Amino acid sequence: MINVSELKKGIVIDHIEAGHGIHIFKQLHLDELTDPVVLLTNIPSNKTGTKDMIKIETDFKINMNVLGLIDPNVTINFVQQGKVTSKLKLTLPREVVGIMKCKNPRCITNHEPVKDVHFYLVDESEKIYRCEYCDAYTKFKPEEN
Ligand SMILES: [Zn+2]
Repeated sequence: MINVSELKKGIVIDHIEAGHGIHIFKQLHLDELTDPVVLLTNIPSNKTGTKDMIKIETDFKINMNVLGLIDPNVTINFVQQGKVTSKLKLTLPREVVGIMKCKNPRCITNHEPVKDVHFYLVDESEKIYRCEYCDAYTKFKPEEN
């Protein structure tokens, strides 16, 4: 089991839905870090049965939008000198930039190199977003992005 006191300084992303840990790992590009990173999967949890957890020993600034999009129920613990100094609860972002791809095959963003496409939340429970260019709705799926 993870022991926060082993972590001098860093971030613990807790209560990740089981199976989402690997998507968060990839989307946050944690494989590119040279700092110690631990991904734990299928940890027994009272709340949800099982959960995933990521522990990063670094000052790395995590992209909260990416995290909130994949799993709005995670808790982020910031650790300093072996103690949790602050906790952060996430919500689904209202606006997403540069993470999603438009599902509309005729959308200009799928034919021209459009950078930083904005998507706006239209349905919170379904994670559906609207493309700023064509207004088409796209459901966010972590495994497809
Ligand atoms: Zn579009």
